[in-house]
Amino acid sequence: MTRSDELRALSEEHSAHNYHPLPIVIAEARGAWVTDVEGNRYLDMLSAYSAVNFGHANERLTAAAKRQLDRVTLVSRAFDHDEFGPFAAELAELCGKDMVLPMNSGAEGVETALKTARKWGYEVKGVPDGQANIITFEHNFHGRTTTIVSFSTDPVAKLSYGPYTPGFRTVPYGEIGPLAQAIDENTVGVLIEPIQGEAGVIVPPEGFLRQVRDLCTERGVLMIADEIQTGLGRTGATFACEHEDVVPDVYILGKALGGGIVPVSAVVADRDVLGVFQPGQHGSTFGGNPLACAVAREVIAILKTGEFQERSRELGAHLHERLGALPGDLVRQVRGRGLWAGVELHSLARPVSERLKDLGVLAKETHETTIRLAPPLVISREDLDWALDQFEAALKG
Ligand SMILES: *Cc1c(COP(=O)(O)O)cnc(C)c1O
Repeated sequence: MTRSDELRALSEEHSAHNYHPLPIVIAEARGAWVTDVEGNRYLDMLSAYSAVNFGHANERLTAAAKRQLDRVTLVSRAFDHDEFGPFAAELAELCGKDMVLPMNSGAEGVETALKTARKWGYEVKGVPDGQANIITFEHNFHGRTTTIVSFSTDPVAKLSYGPYTPGFRTVPYGEIGPLAQAIDENTVGVLIEPIQGEAGVIVPPEGFLRQVRDLCTERGVLMIADEIQTGLGRTGATFACEHEDVVPDVYILGKALGGGIVPVSAVVADRDVLGVFQPGQHGSTFGGNPLACAVAREVIAILKTGEFQERSRELGAHLHERLGALPGDLVRQVRGRGLWAGVELHSLARPVSERLKDLGVLAKETHETTIRLAPPLVISREDLDWALDQFEAALKG
C-alpha cells in the first residue's frame, strides 16, 4: 500500500462521503502546480473553484499572512483592530460602493445578502412584514445552507433537507420575460450569478445582465450579484458584471478574496442598503478578523494593479481559441470567459478527469458531462498549452 492509499483509506473511513475526490493526496503546492505525497507533480486546472486565483503560496499573500500571524489574529467584532477599517475602505473602493459586511464562507456571504435584501425590503421599500420574495434562477449555485438549498433546482443538493425556507421564486436563467413576470410589489431582490459556475460555466446571452439591471432599477428591486466565483479576476475583469457595464446594487464576494489562505467573504453595497443593520442584528465571530483582513487587503492590492485581470483576458483568449479548435466528435460545446471554461462532452466527464489526472493535470467534472477548466491566473502560457495537450489526449482516451 502506498502512502497515498493509506491516507485515502483514512479519509474514506472517517470522513463523511459528501465529496468524490480524485485519487490523489496533495502534500505541497506552489503557483499552478501541486505535488502529491509520493512526489508526483500535477498542474492544477481547478484552483479550488477559483479560491486560488493568485496561485498556491503566492509570495505577496503568504508574506501578508505571516506578518499578521505574529501580530494579532482574532479579536472578534467586539473590538476594532487596525486592519479592519482599512480593509473595509479598500474593499468598498474596489467595488465602487460605500460599505462592506464581512463574513467567512461564501454561503454566509449569500445568507447575509438575503438578510440584507429582506431587511431593506421591510424597512426601506415598505414591503409588509413577512411578505418579501427574492428571485433566483434555475441551475443556480449559491452554497449549501438550509435556506440556500431551499431555492436550489439541483435535486442532489436539495433532497432530504426540507422543510425548505419559503420566500423564493425561480425563473429560467438568460430570459428576461419570465423574470419581469415574477417580480411583484413584494420582490426585494434578484440574486444572480453573472456566469453560472457550478452549473457548468453557463454564460448568459449577451445583454441579459444589462436587462436584469434595468429591470431591477425600474421595479425598485435590489440586483444582487453573486460574484463569489466569477469575481476577482477569473473572467478577465475584476467583476464579471463589468463585461456588460453593469453595476449591481449588492456584490457578494468570497473564494479568491481569502487568497487561498483563509475563508473571507463579504457583502458590499451602498449606505442606503447596508445601512439597515444596527448592532446585534447580524454578525460572525470570525468575520473581519485581523488575519482575514490582512490577506484580503493584499488580494485587493494585487487586483488594483490589474495584472491578473489582464493575464486572464490574454491567456483566456488563447484557452478558448484552442478549445474552440477541438473537433466536434471530441467536444459538444465550449463555454466560458477569461481563464475559465466549461467543456461539454458527448459522454461522462469523470473518466476524462481520471485520465487527465494520470497525465498530470487536475481538473474536475461538474454534473455528468462537463469538465471545468480554471487554472490559477499565474499559470504560464507554456504550462497552459501543455495542460491542453494532455486534455486533448485524455479526450481521445
Ligand atoms: C462557491 C460558491 C458559493 C459558496 O461558497 P462557499 O465558500 O463554498 O460557502 C456561493 N456562490 C457561488 C457562485 C459559488 O461559486
